[in-house]
Amino acid sequence: MPAPETSTRTSSPVQALLERLHERHAPDTSGEVASYIPELATADPGWFGISMVTADGSTYEVGDTRRKFTIQSISKPLTFALALEAVGEQEVRRHVDVEPSGEAFNSITLQPGTGLPLNPMVNAGAIATTSLITSLGFDRPIDRILNEYSAFAGRDLDIDEEVFSSENETGHRNRAIAHLLRNANVFDDGVEDVVETYFRQCATLVDCRDLATIAATLASTGVNPVTRERVLREDTVRNVLSVMASCGMYDAAGDWLYTVGLPAKSGVAGGIIAVLPGQLGIAVYSPPLDVHGNSVRGVKVCEDISDELHLHVMSPARRPPPPVRVERTCLNSRSKRLRSRVEQAILTQHGHRARVFELQGELSFAAGELVTSSALADADETDFAVLDFNAVRSIDLIDVPIFSHLVESYEETGGEIAFSDIDRHPLFADALSRQRDQDGIHPVRTFADLDLALEWCEQGLIDRYGDIDPDPELGLAQHGATIGMSPEQITLLASHLDHRDYEAGDLIYDETETAVHEMLLVTSGKISVLIRTEGGDHRRVATLSPGMTLGEVAMLSGGERIGTSVADTRVAAYVLESGDLEVLRSTDPSLVAILFENLIKMMAVRVSNLRDNIH
Ligand code: GLN
Repeated sequence: MPAPETSTRTSSPVQALLERLHERHAPDTSGEVASYIPELATADPGWFGISMVTADGSTYEVGDTRRKFTIQSISKPLTFALALEAVGEQEVRRHVDVEPSGEAFNSITLQPGTGLPLNPMVNAGAIATTSLITSLGFDRPIDRILNEYSAFAGRDLDIDEEVFSSENETGHRNRAIAHLLRNANVFDDGVEDVVETYFRQCATLVDCRDLATIAATLASTGVNPVTRERVLREDTVRNVLSVMASCGMYDAAGDWLYTVGLPAKSGVAGGIIAVLPGQLGIAVYSPPLDVHGNSVRGVKVCEDISDELHLHVMSPARRPPPPVRVERTCLNSRSKRLRSRVEQAILTQHGHRARVFELQGELSFAAGELVTSSALADADETDFAVLDFNAVRSIDLIDVPIFSHLVESYEETGGEIAFSDIDRHPLFADALSRQRDQDGIHPVRTFADLDLALEWCEQGLIDRYGDIDPDPELGLAQHGATIGMSPEQITLLASHLDHRDYEAGDLIYDETETAVHEMLLVTSGKISVLIRTEGGDHRRVATLSPGMTLGEVAMLSGGERIGTSVADTRVAAYVLESGDLEVLRSTDPSLVAILFENLIKMMAVRVSNLRDNIH
């Protein structure tokens, strides 16, 4: 595996903070370098590095972040994770409990009665979890373990054979613990194999940046944010972080959760990792340890980072943003579909009865509840509602029954509700339609984007409150282009127009046409105007209805079509050719003046519509 490409950011407030903390705590020489493993005693107490990797893979670091040292007990949560996925949670729980011990890392206490180790973060529990891997029958279980750690770090890791031998020769206490476990039948493999594998995993060489990447992998739901590889399942991450929060810092775990408030793990070589779920991983390396076996500078740096960046997981300040980003009605939010004057009047009068809720962020159970109460608040006064998911980053499946119930409640009050942009959350969308199917109710109405949903609201209001024939063929006298003309002028104009029909789906004008000679006076149906986006797709910029004109800009400016127009339904229109316009200009200049004035007025409406659409 090649070393990961990390983007180290050098000039940011976070980088400045890490540098400040490094400077602040470097002079603190308190604590003792571990010496019970003789090889560890050779570490220089001045070595000091801090790294942070965010869930999007950005890396910040200061000091000795590339100096290699042994992972020691920070291996414990990783092997615990491996065991959870290899043999399943139930089997793991049959070998190790998850109770904080309030005792030192090398405590020899086992749970009275069951004889189980108290948790996987103290040596006894870690040896038990390692035994679950050795029991799987691999040739060299340590290779399986090392592979896992390498995936966490995003590069191939090695073992420091000297530290391994040093601990293997002197680790009598850990051997004693292993024999006690063997005696309690926590495992029945050879004690030596288990202990040696455990010592080897503890002797894995890492640097501070590796540890921060490991922590960030736990922070970002088990996906290594640098390599993008999924290392763990989400449920495993939750289990691992839970024991890290309650047991990761041994007999200082309570104080740590209280002051720093982050799941963490320390190792006797001087490393510490801390995890802010969903956001970032922190690692500190500094060999001198306090009486609990935790790095002195490591603890202080984590306390300060948590305090200065407000990272404590219990902090009320870390509330997610409100799930409803903004709420609008059809009075201030309109689709791109152009509306006739009659339709506009209906929307002005009844637009408040269609409401749009733009949702945002990560929608949890609580967010689903908040959306429900906002959406139901004025349900009696609402005929149409849209929940827009465009700015929603993720949505928990726990919200499926909640949103389904919301739809039902809405319908009970006589309203209709639709979801726009829900397709960006396919798992949720599928689960929702499955649930509706199961309950024997019609599927939820969905739209590809908010514009289409708004158009649905508008049409709904127009149908409900307007007495408009849905597809009238306008006479020329009712067309917007002829307002103010005398009956004689309308007859004259008619004699210069052709009548043309299009079927739904027909291409009317293509954006590649040049030197165009005609325009349309639309008398029935619906036309979409599309423009090509940079990505090569088409984006709808307007919808035209009867009474409007199409193509006059290109014809009058002698230029090119602004976009491509397509008939959405059957369309009928009068065609005015530029040659006929010239004839009219000499026979009845005042007719042409009125026509132009009308075209400009209609264009003004379209421009102001466009402006409203650019928020
Ligand atoms: N290998 C060490 C031991 O078992 C790990 C202890 C630790 O890092 N706290 O003693």
